[in-house]
Amino acid sequence: MSQYTLPDMPYDYAALEPAITGEILELHHSKHHAAYVKGANDTLDRLAEVRDKGDFSGLVGLEKTYAFNLSGHVLHTIFWQNLSPDGGDRPDGELGDSIVEHFGSFEAFQKQLTTATATVQGSGWGVLAWEPLGRRLIVEQVYDHHGNVGMSSTPLLVFDAWEHAYYLQYKNVRPDYVEKLWSLINWNDVIARFDAARA
Ligand code: MN
Repeated sequence: MSQYTLPDMPYDYAALEPAITGEILELHHSKHHAAYVKGANDTLDRLAEVRDKGDFSGLVGLEKTYAFNLSGHVLHTIFWQNLSPDGGDRPDGELGDSIVEHFGSFEAFQKQLTTATATVQGSGWGVLAWEPLGRRLIVEQVYDHHGNVGMSSTPLLVFDAWEHAYYLQYKNVRPDYVEKLWSLINWNDVIARFDAARA
């Protein structure tokens, strides 16, 4: 029984062109995201076997593999919904106010998230998250899919900084790809996540 399934894309693979090519989006969703879904399901099966056999000697590796694949599945699911062919601009309302409150200005927030995404060493993500203990917005620089993360935070807006997200189009120039992402942001989706996280 599979616990996780690959969600359909909310738009066609070519819908984000020219910012992101259809070739990249098809590979990214149908191969990379699909692999994280399969990896999470396979690891749950392996964990069930471990419990059945009562042999927990391989548990450390399985826990790491599960966290990696589950987090990859979660982040990609959010990433597709965060983007839209009709995206861009900036949010107003409570999210816009909260960004100014916690980062000083929209421009300062934009610079921090852009830099967090562009400077990930190796593979990772730049993330705008809601941190419920401090009741504040934060930017996190995530390694792989799950490192460098505060346990409490809820991701609202995620920027994929893995080479598979841009290399076929932008080669080594990750900052140009990150710049284009800002023109694709579906702020209505981010606002819905912001409202849900604070509720
Ligand atoms: Mn990715």
